[in-house]
Amino acid sequence: MYRTHNCGELRLKHQGQKVTLSGWVQRKRDKGGMIWIDLRDRYGVTQLAFDESKTDKNILDTVEKCGREYVLKATGNVIERYSKNDNMPTGDIEIFPDALEILSASKTPPFTIENESDGSDELRMKYRYLDIRRNPVKNALVLRHNIARETRKYLDKNGFLEIETPNLIKSTPEGARDFVVPSRMHPGTFYALPQSPQTFKQLLMLGGIDKYFQLVKCYRDEDLRADRQPEFSQIDCEMSFVDKDDIMKQFEGLVQHLFKTVKNVDIELPFKRLTWHESMEKYGIDKPDLRFDMTISELTHLAQNKGFKVFDSVEYVGGICAEKCASYSRKQLDELTKFVQQPQVGAKGLVYVKYNEDGSFKSSVDKFFTPEDLKSWADAMHATPGDLLLILAGNKQETLDQLSVLRLEMGNRLNLRDPGKFEPLWVVDFPLLEWDDETNRYYAMHHPFTSAKAEDTKFMDIDPGKVRANAYDMVINGVELGGGSIRIHNTDEQQHMFKLLGFTEEEARAQFGFLLDAFQYGVPPHGGIAFGFDRICALFGGSDSIRDYIAFPKNNAGRDIMIDAPATISEKQLKELKLKLDVNR
Ligand code: ASP
Repeated sequence: MYRTHNCGELRLKHQGQKVTLSGWVQRKRDKGGMIWIDLRDRYGVTQLAFDESKTDKNILDTVEKCGREYVLKATGNVIERYSKNDNMPTGDIEIFPDALEILSASKTPPFTIENESDGSDELRMKYRYLDIRRNPVKNALVLRHNIARETRKYLDKNGFLEIETPNLIKSTPEGARDFVVPSRMHPGTFYALPQSPQTFKQLLMLGGIDKYFQLVKCYRDEDLRADRQPEFSQIDCEMSFVDKDDIMKQFEGLVQHLFKTVKNVDIELPFKRLTWHESMEKYGIDKPDLRFDMTISELTHLAQNKGFKVFDSVEYVGGICAEKCASYSRKQLDELTKFVQQPQVGAKGLVYVKYNEDGSFKSSVDKFFTPEDLKSWADAMHATPGDLLLILAGNKQETLDQLSVLRLEMGNRLNLRDPGKFEPLWVVDFPLLEWDDETNRYYAMHHPFTSAKAEDTKFMDIDPGKVRANAYDMVINGVELGGGSIRIHNTDEQQHMFKLLGFTEEEARAQFGFLLDAFQYGVPPHGGIAFGFDRICALFGGSDSIRDYIAFPKNNAGRDIMIDAPATISEKQLKELKLKLDVNR
């Protein structure tokens, strides 16, 4: 028997019991006469103590041999510790082994396996199995498991069936590039890995499964960012005979359940709702962080035609009001200017207006504007004496983008983004289509299966950009946790949509013939949503990076540096697949 207990469970009440533990050597300390080993497993750390004058020579020889990360099995009595350690749950006791066995030796690990490690990100990813022994990584996996378990519990209780869909499919456009897999049996043809199970879950609705979910891997060949991985997981869901409100109610219930059961945080229902248009105008972004206010105000009309060229020549002037910041120093204002001028933000400059405590104004544009002008801006921004107005100008969409970034930066500087506070909302009424100047065509903002709002269908042919979608995103603290829509459920409408997206009838048939055919056999009205499962984990765990919550993640270049993938394949494999490489093309 390898163990009677784990390394995290022994307490004073076990005193006097003979126990066997197995685990890794976290640390060995030799204080002349006494040697201690901290033995670690998934559950915690227990101290083994060896009194050199009383311990068998064989055991001492074994102790002598073992170093960090050796795997040991130790049997001995549980003894009350002379000097207790309150920082350790097992800190009241220690084991005096009368048998000790090395189960496996270890090389010295390339970084310290403690809560705080000295290993770089790359090094820890190369040796991820060692990193997983560290509490922060292990705890992230435990959190992930708990969220998965509670998701399944809630959805099962609400009548959802978990059904798997295939991984080797035909391309489903969700706006990203597909990963493809060559077929050996059908040379020259390829499977695509699913960007999501979108069409399959819709076909399940046609199959009469009226409530489906799946914790599912999705694959998108996109440029990577901190919150993106080429393979990631979704909580993917679909329901029949529902409208938008039914879906939103069902899934805010899921999120409330997860917060309560996993984090013991109470979330109020129903969630706030903002239209996409409001969200863009007030926060400059479609995933606003509502933990703080500081909304954007447009100043275009107030600020133009006063002789300040920078404002007069642009489409949009707008700003945010940072409360109680009029006392900002030159240095702080310079820092903010540099911040908005970084290439990632992209503003040309920053105009500030200090609304001083005594009611006077001091600004970077005093030459062009009277105190009355500045007062009119302050009023439009609901500012009061003591506040600081930060103003940007330019093309409307770009300026709103920049203001959204500046707003978050000010939120950080003023500690308004409390990690213990959660402010969920739904963003609704997204545009159905997005125009792309480069390719000169419309793209589906969500995906091509999303339906239009009934009252907007009249614009479909005359002004497609004006049509709003039956789509919704769930956002918490500036993170888009999930999104979905009510789907098109009739062939004509679906074909019309493909046409708007620039598909010829043949192309649409070639790619989606199966769906268009299926739509001829009785389609229940349906809709759904998918949550970024890794993102939910990161939000719950208080991290910006989903990578921390994935057991074996890829690095920023999309590589798994532990197993060294992607990698070349052998000539033989290429031959079987009838593929010839032309990597320099
Ligand atoms: N398939 C969509 C996505 O992956 C979600 C949905 O519409 O249900 O974003």
